[in-house]
Amino acid sequence: MSARPVATMVPNPDWAVARGFWEATARGELRFPRCTSCGTFQWYPRARCRECRSSDFEWTLVAPHGTVFSYTIVRRPFLDGADRATPFAVLQVQFDEAPGVTLVTNLADESQADKVRIGAPISIEFHRINDRTWMPYATIEASSG
Ligand SMILES: [Zn+2]
Repeated sequence: MSARPVATMVPNPDWAVARGFWEATARGELRFPRCTSCGTFQWYPRARCRECRSSDFEWTLVAPHGTVFSYTIVRRPFLDGADRATPFAVLQVQFDEAPGVTLVTNLADESQADKVRIGAPISIEFHRINDRTWMPYATIEASSG
């Protein structure tokens, strides 16, 4: 497995709206906010449910397996001074257990970029960025078909 490039923009795990997500990834769990009133998953997190306007959410555990909804391969840095090696893949992934959720992520191993296809099965693994931040990255699973 190739080494992951170091993330240069690290999310703030104390941002209240997303704190439950980062607390979960630090435990090796994938959780998304789900409305306790109507059951709709929300991602990105919002103050109110987009379906019923409730403000009560539960950070719901989701199996870290899904499929590629869409992707692109970034071949040029898009920020001046960005030290991240290109090319790299940016993926939108979906999860069977969290309808409506699309998570934007990267590959755990960029050497898998040529295996990325829409609909490809993925699993999420968590990589330590610092003591409190574990990033969810996708691995393309061997296709059964
Ligand atoms: Zn709702």
